[in-house]
Amino acid sequence: MVARDERWSAHNYHPLPVVIHEASGAWVTDVEGRRYLDFLAGYSALNFGHRHPALVAAAVEQLGRVTLTSRAFHHDQLGAFCEELAELTGTEMVLLMNSGAEAVESAVKVARKWAYEVKGVPEGTASIVVASGNFHGRTTTIVSFSDDPDAYTGYGPFTPGFVRVPYGDADALAEAVDGRTAAILLEPIQGEAGVVVPPEGYLAAARRIADDAGCLLVVDEIQSGLARTGTTLALEHDGVTADLTALGKALGGGIVAVSAVVGRADVLGVLRPGQHGSTFGGNPLACAVGRAVVALLRTGEMQERSATLGKHLHGRLAGLVGRGVDEVRGRGLWAGIDISPGGLSGREAAVALVQHGVLCKETHGSTLRIAPTLVVTEDELDQGIDALGEVLGA
Ligand SMILES: *Cc1c(COP(=O)(O)O)cnc(C)c1O
Repeated sequence: MVARDERWSAHNYHPLPVVIHEASGAWVTDVEGRRYLDFLAGYSALNFGHRHPALVAAAVEQLGRVTLTSRAFHHDQLGAFCEELAELTGTEMVLLMNSGAEAVESAVKVARKWAYEVKGVPEGTASIVVASGNFHGRTTTIVSFSDDPDAYTGYGPFTPGFVRVPYGDADALAEAVDGRTAAILLEPIQGEAGVVVPPEGYLAAARRIADDAGCLLVVDEIQSGLARTGTTLALEHDGVTADLTALGKALGGGIVAVSAVVGRADVLGVLRPGQHGSTFGGNPLACAVGRAVVALLRTGEMQERSATLGKHLHGRLAGLVGRGVDEVRGRGLWAGIDISPGGLSGREAAVALVQHGVLCKETHGSTLRIAPTLVVTEDELDQGIDALGEVLGA
């Protein structure tokens, strides 16, 4: 089966040696019937676990009615989803797309258009300030401002108009903004970079700097949002609100690709008919599943689980520091674990964990990323952490 993948599928990924056949909740089962605890959760696309009954029910019900209309017509799920998502996130308006990269692209386009039409930046000169170590997706424009050679090498010429400064450095942000800045674009916690949490006060400083410069604060919560860190949005920890927020991954409940830009109505309002869009964006199936995701999040139960289980996770991971682990970062049910030099590579550790019945993934070099489903129990969490301790401490 692996050989057939390798023959026919482009080699843009390097999957771990496990072939998944089915999955339920916090667990997946391979083609030989072995079970694994899912400690990656589709990079946070599966926050609510595999095939959450409420999400599957919403999808099945919508499949029996209407799945796609195109945006040439109205349908009865779009407005409801947008209203419910705006209410959940404390925002005013919603632009629906499909993939995370599309949401970020959309935010970039909206920010530029806002800069020209509202801020009065001369056409074609707007800049967007981004952070080192960023990951915002894989389109040509987005990799234009990546500093990861794997992400950008071979894909030029690149889109101009981005200024990159060190992540976590508020002074560098303040120096980088000027009259032509349309937006500051940041991840509240950098997932792909290794679950990097910025210094206390950094995001609040970014908000102030954006206000002083009269530019937008655009936040990418595609991986950090929707309960992953113990709150609906990770930015809530800092008591800060963004002007635009990109959402994706868990927004589709692990069933369909759903992404969105949520934020200020006067900013998203720069888009008029025909100026941006997507054939599949905001389709009835996506909206029906998205509404069920919002309903799950409205009760606060998932946020609470992430906060409580996250404390447990980080308490136990702290115990591994000095025993094969150099540093652990993260918040809620999300952790980046730096394996000590001389130990396994991240890849080797992830492969060893497969043997122990736990699925997770390395990020860069010697860092493991842990993002269990939020439906995992404390016992299951302990089981996975025990396996980690065995593999990394060995
Ligand atoms: C995954 C991710 C993206 C890209 O989402 P895709 O759906 O893969 O296009 C963008 N930003 C962040 C922070 C992500 O984690």
